[in-house]
Amino acid sequence: MDNLESFQSLMQHPKKVSIIAHHNPDADALGSSLALSLYLQKKGHQVSTIMPSSFPSFLDWMPSSEKVISYTLEKEKICNDILQDTEVVFFIDFSAESRIRQIQTLVANMTATSVIIDHHQEPTMKADFWLWDANASSTAELIYRFIEMMDDKALLDAQMGACIYAGIVTDTASFKHASTNKKVHLIAAELIDLGVNTSRVQRYIYDSNSENRLRFIGYALLNKLTILPEYRTAYFLLTKEELETYQNQLGDSEGLVDYALSVKNVVLAVVILEKKDCVKMSFRSVGGFQANLFAQKHFNGGGHKNAAGGDYIGSPYDIEEKLLSLLPQYKTQLEEADK
Ligand code: 5GP
Ligand code: MN
Repeated sequence: MDNLESFQSLMQHPKKVSIIAHHNPDADALGSSLALSLYLQKKGHQVSTIMPSSFPSFLDWMPSSEKVISYTLEKEKICNDILQDTEVVFFIDFSAESRIRQIQTLVANMTATSVIIDHHQEPTMKADFWLWDANASSTAELIYRFIEMMDDKALLDAQMGACIYAGIVTDTASFKHASTNKKVHLIAAELIDLGVNTSRVQRYIYDSNSENRLRFIGYALLNKLTILPEYRTAYFLLTKEELETYQNQLGDSEGLVDYALSVKNVVLAVVILEKKDCVKMSFRSVGGFQANLFAQKHFNGGGHKNAAGGDYIGSPYDIEEKLLSLLPQYKTQLEEADK
Protein backbone atom coordinates (compact mmCIF):
# COMPACT_ATOMS: atom_id res chain seq x y z
CA MET A 1 0.00 0.00 0.00
CA ASP A 2 1.28 3.47 -0.88
CA ASN A 3 1.13 6.01 1.96
CA LEU A 4 1.06 3.23 4.54
CA GLU A 5 2.20 5.62 7.25
CA SER A 6 -0.60 8.09 6.68
CA PHE A 7 -3.08 5.20 6.59
CA GLN A 8 -1.71 3.87 9.87
CA SER A 9 -2.00 7.27 11.50
CA LEU A 10 -5.57 7.61 10.21
CA MET A 11 -6.47 4.30 11.86
CA GLN A 12 -4.64 5.09 15.09
CA HIS A 13 -7.83 6.26 16.79
CA PRO A 14 -11.19 4.45 16.80
CA LYS A 15 -13.16 5.16 13.66
CA LYS A 16 -16.62 4.45 12.33
CA VAL A 17 -15.89 1.95 9.60
CA SER A 18 -18.02 0.36 6.90
CA ILE A 19 -17.03 -2.66 4.88
CA ILE A 20 -18.68 -3.32 1.52
CA ALA A 21 -18.10 -6.24 -0.84
CA HIS A 22 -19.62 -6.99 -4.24
CA HIS A 23 -23.11 -8.09 -5.21
CA ASN A 24 -23.70 -11.84 -4.74
CA PRO A 25 -20.79 -12.15 -2.36
CA ASP A 26 -18.83 -15.39 -2.62
CA ALA A 27 -16.68 -16.96 0.09
CA ASP A 28 -13.76 -14.67 -0.77
CA ALA A 29 -15.83 -11.48 -0.66
CA LEU A 30 -17.67 -12.42 2.53
CA GLY A 31 -14.73 -14.15 4.25
CA SER A 32 -12.42 -11.22 3.52
CA SER A 33 -15.00 -8.73 4.79
CA LEU A 34 -15.65 -10.67 7.99
CA ALA A 35 -11.96 -11.28 8.74
CA LEU A 36 -11.32 -7.57 8.25
CA SER A 37 -14.30 -6.67 10.40
CA LEU A 38 -13.16 -8.95 13.24
CA TYR A 39 -9.66 -7.48 13.03
CA LEU A 40 -10.82 -3.86 13.00
CA GLN A 41 -13.15 -4.49 15.93
CA LYS A 42 -10.23 -5.91 17.90
CA LYS A 43 -8.47 -2.62 17.18
CA GLY A 44 -11.36 -0.73 18.74
CA HIS A 45 -13.14 0.49 15.62
CA GLN A 46 -16.90 0.48 15.24
CA VAL A 47 -17.59 -1.66 12.17
CA SER A 48 -20.64 -2.25 9.96
CA THR A 49 -20.52 -4.80 7.16
CA ILE A 50 -22.91 -4.19 4.28
CA MET A 51 -23.42 -6.48 1.28
CA PRO A 52 -25.32 -5.29 -1.82
CA SER A 53 -27.31 -8.56 -1.76
CA SER A 54 -27.73 -11.67 0.35
CA PHE A 55 -25.12 -14.41 0.45
CA PRO A 56 -25.51 -18.19 -0.02
CA SER A 57 -26.58 -20.13 3.07
CA PHE A 58 -23.52 -22.39 2.88
CA LEU A 59 -21.56 -19.39 4.19
CA ASP A 60 -23.77 -18.95 7.28
CA TRP A 61 -21.17 -20.61 9.47
CA MET A 62 -18.73 -17.73 9.05
CA PRO A 63 -18.06 -16.00 12.36
CA SER A 64 -20.20 -12.86 12.74
CA SER A 65 -21.99 -13.42 9.41
CA GLU A 66 -25.23 -12.89 11.36
CA LYS A 67 -24.27 -9.24 11.80
CA VAL A 68 -23.95 -8.59 8.06
CA ILE A 69 -26.56 -6.25 6.62
CA SER A 70 -27.66 -7.47 3.20
CA TYR A 71 -29.14 -4.56 1.29
CA THR A 72 -32.79 -4.64 0.25
CA LEU A 73 -35.01 -1.72 -0.65
CA GLU A 74 -36.61 -1.93 2.82
CA LYS A 75 -33.17 -1.56 4.41
CA GLU A 76 -32.17 1.38 2.24
CA LYS A 77 -32.57 3.93 5.03
CA ILE A 78 -30.59 1.89 7.56
CA CYS A 79 -27.81 1.36 5.01
CA ASN A 80 -27.79 5.00 3.99
CA ASP A 81 -27.66 6.24 7.60
CA ILE A 82 -24.69 3.98 8.32
CA LEU A 83 -22.85 4.92 5.15
CA GLN A 84 -23.30 8.66 5.53
CA ASP A 85 -22.02 8.43 9.12
CA THR A 86 -18.96 6.37 8.12
CA GLU A 87 -15.45 7.79 8.47
CA VAL A 88 -13.52 5.05 6.69
CA VAL A 89 -15.01 2.73 4.07
CA PHE A 90 -13.35 -0.45 2.82
CA PHE A 91 -14.29 -1.79 -0.61
CA ILE A 92 -13.53 -5.48 -0.63
CA ASP A 93 -13.03 -7.87 -3.55
CA PHE A 94 -14.14 -5.48 -6.28
CA SER A 95 -12.87 -2.32 -7.92
CA ALA A 96 -15.63 -1.45 -10.40
CA GLU A 97 -18.64 0.50 -9.10
CA SER A 98 -21.13 -1.51 -11.12
CA ARG A 99 -20.42 -4.56 -8.94
CA ILE A 100 -22.26 -3.05 -5.97
CA ARG A 101 -25.46 -2.57 -8.00
CA GLN A 102 -28.22 -0.78 -6.04
CA ILE A 103 -25.98 0.69 -3.38
CA GLN A 104 -23.89 2.63 -5.90
CA THR A 105 -25.87 5.82 -5.34
CA LEU A 106 -25.63 5.52 -1.55
CA VAL A 107 -21.88 5.05 -1.84
CA ALA A 108 -21.52 7.95 -4.27
CA ASN A 109 -22.81 10.33 -1.57
CA MET A 110 -20.33 9.16 1.07
CA THR A 111 -17.70 11.52 2.42
CA ALA A 112 -15.59 8.83 4.11
CA THR A 113 -11.95 8.06 3.38
CA SER A 114 -11.97 5.08 1.04
CA VAL A 115 -9.78 1.99 0.88
CA ILE A 116 -9.83 -0.70 -1.80
CA ILE A 117 -8.53 -4.19 -1.06
CA ASP A 118 -8.83 -6.26 -4.19
CA HIS A 119 -7.25 -8.59 -6.74
CA HIS A 120 -9.38 -7.95 -9.84
CA GLN A 121 -7.76 -6.74 -13.01
CA GLU A 122 -8.26 -3.28 -14.45
CA PRO A 123 -9.79 -1.36 -11.55
CA THR A 124 -12.02 1.51 -12.61
CA MET A 125 -12.84 3.02 -9.21
CA LYS A 126 -11.17 5.81 -7.30
CA ALA A 127 -10.04 5.48 -3.68
CA ASP A 128 -7.76 7.19 -1.19
CA PHE A 129 -5.82 4.05 -0.29
CA TRP A 130 -5.20 0.87 -2.24
CA LEU A 131 -4.07 -2.61 -1.44
CA TRP A 132 -4.40 -4.08 -4.89
CA ASP A 133 -2.60 -7.02 -6.45
CA ALA A 134 -4.01 -8.78 -9.49
CA ASN A 135 -1.56 -11.63 -8.92
CA ALA A 136 -2.91 -12.37 -5.45
CA SER A 137 -4.76 -15.68 -5.16
CA SER A 138 -7.67 -14.05 -3.40
CA THR A 139 -8.71 -10.93 -1.57
CA ALA A 140 -8.50 -13.06 1.59
CA GLU A 141 -4.75 -13.39 0.99
CA LEU A 142 -4.60 -9.60 0.77
CA ILE A 143 -6.49 -9.27 4.09
CA TYR A 144 -3.82 -11.46 5.66
CA ARG A 145 -1.12 -9.26 4.09
CA PHE A 146 -2.97 -6.14 5.24
CA ILE A 147 -2.97 -7.30 8.87
CA GLU A 148 0.71 -8.22 8.49
CA MET A 149 1.44 -4.79 6.98
CA MET A 150 -0.31 -3.11 9.90
CA ASP A 151 2.09 -4.99 12.19
CA ASP A 152 -0.80 -6.79 13.81
CA LYS A 153 -0.20 -10.45 13.05
CA ALA A 154 -0.39 -11.09 16.78
CA LEU A 155 -4.09 -10.17 16.63
CA LEU A 156 -4.96 -12.89 14.10
CA ASP A 157 -7.10 -15.63 15.61
CA ALA A 158 -8.86 -18.82 14.53
CA GLN A 159 -12.09 -16.98 13.70
CA MET A 160 -10.45 -14.53 11.33
CA GLY A 161 -8.29 -17.39 10.11
CA ALA A 162 -11.32 -19.51 9.15
CA CYS A 163 -12.73 -16.62 7.09
CA ILE A 164 -9.39 -16.03 5.36
CA TYR A 165 -8.92 -19.75 4.73
CA ALA A 166 -12.38 -20.02 3.17
CA GLY A 167 -11.58 -17.16 0.77
CA ILE A 168 -8.27 -18.69 -0.27
CA VAL A 169 -9.75 -22.18 -0.69
CA THR A 170 -12.60 -21.07 -2.91
CA ASP A 171 -10.71 -18.55 -5.04
CA THR A 172 -7.92 -21.05 -5.72
CA ALA A 173 -10.37 -23.99 -6.17
CA SER A 174 -8.69 -25.74 -3.23
CA PHE A 175 -5.12 -24.68 -4.04
CA LYS A 176 -5.45 -25.72 -7.68
CA HIS A 177 -5.21 -22.48 -9.68
CA ALA A 178 -1.92 -21.12 -10.95
CA SER A 179 -2.08 -18.28 -8.41
CA THR A 180 -1.41 -20.80 -5.62
CA ASN A 181 2.24 -20.04 -4.95
CA LYS A 182 4.48 -20.86 -2.01
CA LYS A 183 3.31 -17.81 -0.05
CA VAL A 184 -0.32 -18.98 -0.29
CA HIS A 185 0.61 -22.37 1.16
CA LEU A 186 2.65 -20.69 3.89
CA ILE A 187 -0.32 -18.48 4.82
CA ALA A 188 -2.54 -21.58 4.94
CA ALA A 189 0.03 -23.27 7.20
CA GLU A 190 0.01 -20.27 9.53
CA LEU A 191 -3.79 -20.35 9.64
CA ILE A 192 -3.60 -23.99 10.72
CA ASP A 193 -1.23 -22.92 13.51
CA LEU A 194 -3.88 -20.42 14.65
CA GLY A 195 -6.25 -23.32 15.16
CA VAL A 196 -8.35 -23.14 12.00
CA ASN A 197 -10.09 -26.45 11.45
CA THR A 198 -9.40 -26.62 7.72
CA SER A 199 -11.24 -29.85 7.03
CA ARG A 200 -14.33 -28.44 8.71
CA VAL A 201 -14.15 -25.29 6.56
CA GLN A 202 -13.81 -27.45 3.43
CA ARG A 203 -16.81 -29.51 4.52
CA TYR A 204 -18.92 -26.41 5.12
CA ILE A 205 -18.08 -25.17 1.65
CA TYR A 206 -18.05 -28.30 -0.48
CA ASP A 207 -20.13 -30.85 1.42
CA SER A 208 -23.26 -28.92 2.19
CA ASN A 209 -25.27 -29.82 -0.90
CA SER A 210 -29.02 -29.90 -0.68
CA GLU A 211 -30.67 -32.80 -2.51
CA ASN A 212 -32.09 -30.29 -5.00
CA ARG A 213 -28.70 -28.84 -5.75
CA LEU A 214 -27.13 -32.24 -6.35
CA ARG A 215 -29.97 -33.32 -8.63
CA PHE A 216 -29.76 -29.99 -10.44
CA ILE A 217 -26.05 -30.59 -11.15
CA GLY A 218 -26.90 -34.13 -12.30
CA TYR A 219 -29.59 -32.80 -14.64
CA ALA A 220 -27.26 -30.15 -16.04
CA LEU A 221 -24.44 -32.64 -16.63
CA LEU A 222 -26.73 -35.15 -18.28
CA ASN A 223 -28.79 -32.82 -20.44
CA LYS A 224 -27.33 -29.36 -20.66
CA LEU A 225 -23.59 -29.67 -21.27
CA THR A 226 -22.45 -28.86 -24.79
CA ILE A 227 -18.88 -29.75 -25.71
CA LEU A 228 -17.26 -28.19 -28.78
CA PRO A 229 -13.96 -30.06 -29.23
CA GLU A 230 -12.95 -27.99 -32.28
CA TYR A 231 -12.95 -24.85 -30.11
CA ARG A 232 -11.83 -26.57 -26.89
CA THR A 233 -14.92 -25.06 -25.30
CA ALA A 234 -17.71 -26.51 -23.15
CA TYR A 235 -20.77 -24.69 -21.91
CA PHE A 236 -24.02 -25.05 -19.99
CA LEU A 237 -27.16 -23.08 -20.72
CA LEU A 238 -29.91 -23.20 -18.10
CA THR A 239 -33.24 -21.46 -18.33
CA LYS A 240 -35.31 -19.85 -15.61
CA GLU A 241 -37.79 -22.74 -15.79
CA GLU A 242 -35.01 -25.31 -15.26
CA LEU A 243 -33.69 -23.39 -12.28
CA GLU A 244 -37.21 -23.23 -10.85
CA THR A 245 -37.74 -26.98 -11.32
CA TYR A 246 -34.82 -27.62 -8.97
CA GLN A 247 -35.84 -24.78 -6.65
CA ASN A 248 -32.48 -23.22 -7.30
CA GLN A 249 -31.17 -21.32 -4.30
CA LEU A 250 -28.50 -18.67 -4.28
CA GLY A 251 -25.15 -20.43 -4.71
CA ASP A 252 -26.60 -23.68 -6.13
CA SER A 253 -25.10 -23.12 -9.55
CA GLU A 254 -21.70 -22.13 -8.19
CA GLY A 255 -19.09 -24.65 -9.30
CA LEU A 256 -21.09 -25.78 -12.32
CA VAL A 257 -18.64 -24.02 -14.62
CA ASP A 258 -15.77 -26.06 -13.18
CA TYR A 259 -17.38 -29.27 -14.44
CA ALA A 260 -17.25 -27.86 -17.96
CA LEU A 261 -13.61 -26.91 -17.51
CA SER A 262 -12.80 -30.39 -16.22
CA VAL A 263 -13.47 -31.93 -19.63
CA LYS A 264 -10.22 -33.17 -21.15
CA ASN A 265 -8.70 -30.65 -23.60
CA VAL A 266 -11.27 -27.98 -22.79
CA VAL A 267 -9.66 -24.58 -22.13
CA LEU A 268 -12.76 -22.36 -22.10
CA ALA A 269 -15.83 -23.11 -19.99
CA VAL A 270 -18.98 -21.01 -19.95
CA VAL A 271 -22.20 -21.08 -17.94
CA ILE A 272 -25.20 -19.12 -19.18
CA LEU A 273 -27.87 -18.86 -16.50
CA GLU A 274 -31.22 -17.24 -17.05
CA LYS A 275 -31.94 -15.64 -13.68
CA LYS A 276 -35.10 -13.79 -12.68
CA ASP A 277 -33.77 -10.35 -13.54
CA CYS A 278 -30.91 -10.98 -15.98
CA VAL A 279 -28.79 -13.57 -17.72
CA LYS A 280 -25.65 -14.30 -15.71
CA MET A 281 -22.55 -15.61 -17.40
CA SER A 282 -19.52 -17.32 -15.89
CA PHE A 283 -16.31 -17.89 -17.80
CA ARG A 284 -13.35 -20.02 -16.80
CA SER A 285 -10.24 -20.59 -18.86
CA VAL A 286 -6.91 -22.35 -18.80
CA GLY A 287 -3.45 -20.84 -19.34
CA GLY A 288 -3.13 -17.92 -21.72
CA PHE A 289 -6.76 -17.55 -22.78
CA GLN A 290 -7.87 -14.27 -21.19
CA ALA A 291 -11.40 -14.88 -19.99
CA ASN A 292 -11.61 -11.39 -18.49
CA LEU A 293 -10.90 -9.68 -21.81
CA PHE A 294 -13.31 -12.01 -23.59
CA ALA A 295 -16.03 -11.17 -21.03
CA GLN A 296 -15.26 -7.47 -21.10
CA LYS A 297 -15.17 -7.11 -24.87
CA HIS A 298 -18.26 -9.13 -25.72
CA PHE A 299 -20.37 -9.75 -22.63
CA ASN A 300 -20.45 -6.56 -20.55
CA GLY A 301 -18.29 -8.19 -17.88
CA GLY A 302 -14.78 -8.72 -16.62
CA GLY A 303 -12.87 -10.39 -13.82
CA HIS A 304 -9.61 -12.28 -13.70
CA LYS A 305 -7.55 -13.81 -16.48
CA ASN A 306 -8.91 -17.31 -15.85
CA ALA A 307 -12.21 -16.56 -14.08
CA ALA A 308 -14.62 -13.93 -15.29
CA GLY A 309 -18.29 -13.13 -15.51
CA GLY A 310 -20.82 -10.84 -17.05
CA ASP A 311 -24.52 -10.12 -17.21
CA TYR A 312 -27.08 -9.33 -19.86
CA ILE A 313 -30.73 -8.35 -20.00
CA GLY A 314 -32.45 -10.51 -22.60
CA SER A 315 -32.65 -14.09 -23.78
CA PRO A 316 -30.00 -16.68 -22.82
CA TYR A 317 -30.20 -18.00 -26.36
CA ASP A 318 -28.90 -14.64 -27.67
CA ILE A 319 -25.85 -15.15 -25.51
CA GLU A 320 -25.42 -18.70 -26.75
CA GLU A 321 -25.67 -17.52 -30.34
CA LYS A 322 -23.17 -14.76 -29.72
CA LEU A 323 -20.76 -17.19 -28.07
CA LEU A 324 -21.01 -19.61 -30.97
CA SER A 325 -20.48 -16.85 -33.51
CA LEU A 326 -17.40 -15.54 -31.67
CA LEU A 327 -15.54 -18.81 -31.21
CA PRO A 328 -14.17 -19.13 -34.79
CA GLN A 329 -12.22 -15.88 -34.42
CA TYR A 330 -10.67 -17.19 -31.17
CA LYS A 331 -9.79 -20.62 -32.58
CA THR A 332 -6.03 -20.06 -32.65
CA GLN A 333 -5.97 -18.55 -29.15
CA LEU A 334 -7.98 -21.48 -27.83
CA GLU A 335 -5.73 -24.00 -29.57
CA GLU A 336 -2.65 -22.41 -28.04
CA ALA A 337 -4.05 -21.53 -24.59
CA ASP A 338 -2.11 -24.16 -22.66
CA LYS A 339 0.95 -24.41 -24.89
P1 5GP B 1 -18.37 -16.06 -11.10
O1 5GP B 1 -18.32 -16.84 -12.37
O2 5GP B 1 -17.83 -16.85 -9.96
O3 5GP B 1 -19.68 -15.40 -10.84
O4 5GP B 1 -17.38 -14.86 -11.31
C1 5GP B 1 -16.02 -15.06 -11.54
C2 5GP B 1 -15.29 -13.75 -11.48
O5 5GP B 1 -15.74 -12.94 -12.56
C3 5GP B 1 -15.60 -12.95 -10.24
O6 5GP B 1 -14.64 -13.18 -9.26
C4 5GP B 1 -15.53 -11.55 -10.73
O7 5GP B 1 -14.19 -11.15 -10.75
C5 5GP B 1 -15.91 -11.61 -12.17
N1 5GP B 1 -17.30 -11.23 -12.47
C6 5GP B 1 -18.41 -11.98 -12.31
N2 5GP B 1 -19.50 -11.34 -12.75
C7 5GP B 1 -19.09 -10.16 -13.22
C8 5GP B 1 -19.75 -9.03 -13.82
O8 5GP B 1 -20.96 -9.01 -14.03
N3 5GP B 1 -18.96 -7.98 -14.16
C9 5GP B 1 -17.60 -7.97 -13.98
N4 5GP B 1 -16.90 -6.90 -14.33
N5 5GP B 1 -16.96 -9.01 -13.42
C10 5GP B 1 -17.67 -10.08 -13.04
MN1 MN C 1 -11.98 -12.85 -4.98
